[in-house]
Amino acid sequence: MTSISGKTDLDWGAFAQALAPVEVIDEPVLVKKRSRDFFWYSPILNAELRRSFGDLVALPKTRDEMAHCLKLAYQADAPVVLRGGGTGNYGQAVPLQGGLIIETTGMNKILEIGDGFVRAEAGALMIDVNAALNEQGWEMAMFPSTQDIATIGGFIAGGSAGIGSIANGVLREPGNILQLKALSVEEEPQEYVFEGQDVLQIHHAWGLNGVITEVTLRTVPHPDWIGCMATFDSYRDCYAAGYALATADNVGRKLASTVDARIVEYFPRLKGHLREGKHLLVALVPAGDMDAFRALIEAQGGHLDLAMNDAEREAAKLPHVFEFAYNHTTLQVLKADRSATYQQIGVPDASDADLVAKVGQALGDDVWQHHEFSLLEGEVVAFDLPIIWYSTEERLREIGRIYEAHGHGVYDAHSYHVESGGLKTADFLHLAWKKRLDPKGLLNPGKSRAWDMVKDLSPEEIEAKAAG
Ligand SMILES: Cc1cc2nc3c(=O)[nH]c(=O)nc-3n(C[C@H](O)[C@H](O)[C@H](O)COP(=O)(O)OP(=O)(O)OC[C@H]3O[C@@H](n4cnc5c(N)ncnc54)[C@H](O)[C@@H]3O)c2cc1C
Repeated sequence: MTSISGKTDLDWGAFAQALAPVEVIDEPVLVKKRSRDFFWYSPILNAELRRSFGDLVALPKTRDEMAHCLKLAYQADAPVVLRGGGTGNYGQAVPLQGGLIIETTGMNKILEIGDGFVRAEAGALMIDVNAALNEQGWEMAMFPSTQDIATIGGFIAGGSAGIGSIANGVLREPGNILQLKALSVEEEPQEYVFEGQDVLQIHHAWGLNGVITEVTLRTVPHPDWIGCMATFDSYRDCYAAGYALATADNVGRKLASTVDARIVEYFPRLKGHLREGKHLLVALVPAGDMDAFRALIEAQGGHLDLAMNDAEREAAKLPHVFEFAYNHTTLQVLKADRSATYQQIGVPDASDADLVAKVGQALGDDVWQHHEFSLLEGEVVAFDLPIIWYSTEERLREIGRIYEAHGHGVYDAHSYHVESGGLKTADFLHLAWKKRLDPKGLLNPGKSRAWDMVKDLSPEEIEAKAAG
């Protein structure tokens, strides 16, 4: 078999045979499909990554099969990219140097549900985890809007927050990730167990520094959630209502998103359910708090257009309200027009609706605001995931500078380097663990700029850079 990417000169036919009994996919069209994620949200990443493909896909079903894949990769010096559902937005799961893609979705057992926690294999889909939890009165403390196809291991390795973060904080906060088990890429792959805040050594490392096999996460009680949509005349008031909900002491919530009216035009499935031409607040509120929520919306000058529990929503043939939040908002627009893209922007003071309105005016007609509220270290924070009508990279960078001039932070969504987006700087603790668990640097090569600078140092020397 020839290499699709042409970047590795291994005999992939022999490699596939040696992987037995692990199932493989070697059909080039299917290997190419599994070499992609949602990087095409970014025209910049699309140009850079659309021709990067792996050579072979392995589908282990057990930890031992996974260890067998890693041992062979180590022996053959084969690059390895882990893949869950392939829903990442920055090309995290795209093989830059060809090689072996290991898809985890066959390792999908939910192993244990207890008071306040769930333990599952890394390839379990979050929709299945939530369904199993719901039956016992629990739910995940947070999950991404991609729960239908994204895996729990992919969320830990690639994600950061989601539906529920407004109540329970972002993933990295103490107590949200309880334990991670990971395998090393060595002659004899070893299992490492991370607990307490040590889980941060491997969380959001994009599969660079170990192969997560098992995840234990915090869970929370599961009330009857009502999916709500309220509309407002101005984006400022809509945003202010989102903040009021995020900070209310008499209304529970697991989602508060605000969406510019021009974006709402791209939600055809909501036509007839919402007032036309208005700005939209999307929320999930417990049934028992609906009277207080109605009063809050009224006090903020809005109108509650839609409020349905899951059974009512299914009868009305509507999607979950969270499919109009987080990066699903962007997806709804992209479904209609691929010239849209987005950016990730931190709001300096979530309580300041006037600043949000002011930056909105300064940005121009090619930027339509969309905010998410979350908890970070007990404080309400907001971030903007605006729709940007892409013209040039220069204009995209200018938009970033306008945000920065108004005190906002830009977490670039248009780079495939782990140091660019969420992390912003090199994480030397991640890289020290990479040296321990992946001494040959085979995992997801090319995704860390800093790795090349430290790969010849010992783990302790790399760790010292974190301290310095
Ligand atoms: C429409 C849309 C909405 C989204 N909403 C959110 C959101 O609300 N919150 C959020 O945080 N993200 C969100 N994302 C990003 C993405 O969905 C999440 O990060 C998701 O949880 C990734 O899971 P996955 O199984 O698809 O991982 P993948 O995309 O397959 O992998 C993500 C990264 O993790 C690595 N990886 C996968 N499995 C393992 C493993 N077992 N061990 C080690 N490394 C591994 C991969 O190599 C890759 O680097 C969204 C994306 C889209 C397209």
